[in-house]
Amino acid sequence: MPPEDAREAITHRRRDRQSHQHAKRARSSRHWPRPIVLTNIDAMVSSTGRVVVVGGGLAGCEAAWQCAARGVPVVLHEMRPTRTTPAHRTDRLAELVCSNSFKSENETNAHGLLKAELRRVGSLIMECAENARLPAGAALGVDRDGFAAEVTRRIYGHPLITVVRDEATAIPADEPAILAPGPLCSPALAAAIADFTGADNLAFFDAISPVVEAGSIDWDRAFRASRYGKGGEDYVNCPLDRAEYEAFYDALVGAGRAELHDFDRDLLFEGCLPVEELARRGRDTLRFGPMKPVGLKDPRTGHRPWAVVQLRQDNLAASHWSMVGFQNRLTWPEQRRVFRMIPALAHSEFVNLGTMHRNTYINAPRVLLPTFQTQARAGLFFAGQVSGVEGYTEATASGLVAGLGAAALVRGGSPPVFPPETALGALSRYVAAADAATYQPTNIAFGLFPPLPDPPRAKHDRRRATAGRALSALGTYIRECPLW
Ligand SMILES: Cc1cc2nc3c(=O)[nH]c(=O)nc-3n(C[C@H](O)[C@H](O)[C@H](O)COP(=O)(O)OP(=O)(O)OC[C@H]3O[C@@H](n4cnc5c(N)ncnc54)[C@H](O)[C@@H]3O)c2cc1C
Repeated sequence: MPPEDAREAITHRRRDRQSHQHAKRARSSRHWPRPIVLTNIDAMVSSTGRVVVVGGGLAGCEAAWQCAARGVPVVLHEMRPTRTTPAHRTDRLAELVCSNSFKSENETNAHGLLKAELRRVGSLIMECAENARLPAGAALGVDRDGFAAEVTRRIYGHPLITVVRDEATAIPADEPAILAPGPLCSPALAAAIADFTGADNLAFFDAISPVVEAGSIDWDRAFRASRYGKGGEDYVNCPLDRAEYEAFYDALVGAGRAELHDFDRDLLFEGCLPVEELARRGRDTLRFGPMKPVGLKDPRTGHRPWAVVQLRQDNLAASHWSMVGFQNRLTWPEQRRVFRMIPALAHSEFVNLGTMHRNTYINAPRVLLPTFQTQARAGLFFAGQVSGVEGYTEATASGLVAGLGAAALVRGGSPPVFPPETALGALSRYVAAADAATYQPTNIAFGLFPPLPDPPRAKHDRRRATAGRALSALGTYIRECPLW
C-alpha cells in the first residue's frame, strides 16, 4: 500500500459521549476481568539473537534499554532527523512533544503508583526524568532538553544498542521486533501496520497548550503559589475577576478555530479536550476545570479570585511557562487575541501556540496479549501510544513490558505477565482485555485494578490499600521472576 493511502487504511471510530461512557464502564471493576486467552505464547520465535526496535521515543528507548540490560543486542531505528513528525522539534531520542510533566508522584494516585513500580523494576526513563527534575509541586516535571539529552546519551552509550537513523517502512520480518513509532507514526509504517492488523487502527487529534515567555508576563498581575500551598510557589497564577472572566469566556467560545479534515471531526479525546470545547459545555465549566480558583488566594486582594489560569514551568531556566490545561485548536491570531485578554498575559509573547496533531493507535484488544505481544505473531510487540495506552508514563510502562518480553523470548523464556494487582499488570490487561467494540487508549487509573476483597469505606484509604497491595505483589513477582 503506498504511503499516501495510509490515512485511508486507518479506520476512524466516532467517539461520541455514549462511547466514552461505554469505555468508562468497560474499565470499571464490575466488568473485570474479561477472560484473556494466551495463545501463541510458546510459538516458535525465529531469532537472530537480537531485537529490532522501531521508534526512539519514550517507549522505544525504554524497550531497547530493558533488552540491552539483559544482555540482548538491540538495533533501534529512529527516523528523525531524516524524516520528522508534525510535533517533534529536535533529533534527540525521547523528545517530549507537549507537556514537561509526568504527572503525580503521589503513590495514592494511580500515576504516582505506576511511577513507583517503574522505578522498582529499573526504568531508564524514570531514572533520566529524576535527573532532569524541575519544581512542579506534587508532580514529576522535567527540563525537557536535559531529559531528552540524557536519554540520548545513555542509549548511545550502551554497548549493546545500535541506533540507526532511518525510517522503517515495513514491519521487520523473521526476528523479534518491537514497534513503538508513537502517535505520529510515519504514513508508510502506518500502512504496513494497517495491513498487519486489518481495519483496527484509527486516528484522532490531540491538542497542545501554548507556552509563554517569562519576560512577557505582567508580574504585578500574577502571583506564585500552588493550590492549598502544596508545592510552595511552583505555579504562576493569572487571576481574573468576574467581569474579566465573562469577557474572556465570550471571546473564547466565539474565537475562530483551525480547520479540521472531515474525517477528523468528532475524534477529540475526552481526556484531552481543547479548552474552547470544554468552555462550550457551560459558562462556568472552566471555573470547575482548568480555571478553577480553589485553594488559591490573590495576595493583592486577600481573596480567592473568580477564576485563575495557571502557568507551569516548562524549562530549567524558568524562561518558558506553559498554560495548564489550555490545549486548543484556535487559529494562531485568535489565540494571541483571546489569551492576551487574561490580565497578567496582556502583553505576552508566545514561545509555542496550541496546535492539533494526529494520534495513531491500534485496537489493542483485537491485536495484543497482556505482554504487548501480538496475538498473530509471538515475536512481534507493540509499545507506546500506538499500542493503545495514553500518556508519557504509560508509554514508558508499555515499552518496559515489551522490552522485557522480547528479551525473554531471545533468551528462550516466556515474556513476563505482571500480576493484575500491580499498575503494570492492570495496564497490560486493559490493553489486551478491554471491550474491543468501544476501545479507547487509556491512562492508568484505579478503575483498571481488580477490586479489593475487603475495601475500606473511605476513598483515600481504598487507594492507599490498592497501592500497598500493588507494591507488595510487585515485590513478590520480581523475587520470583528470572528476568531480575
Ligand atoms: C501532540 C501530542 C501531544 C501529547 N502530549 C502529551 C502530554 O502532554 N502528556 C502526556 O502524558 N502524553 C502526551 N501525548 C501522548 C503520548 O504520551 C506521547 O505522544 C508519548 O510521547 C508517546 O510515547 P511513544 O514512545 O509512544 O511515542 P513518541 O515519543 O512519539 O516516539 C515515537 C518515535 O518514533 C519515531 N518514528 C515514527 N515513525 C517511525 C518510523 N516509521 N521509523 C522510525 N522511527 C519512527 C518518531 O520520530 C518518534 O521519535 C501527546 C501526544 C501527541 C501526539
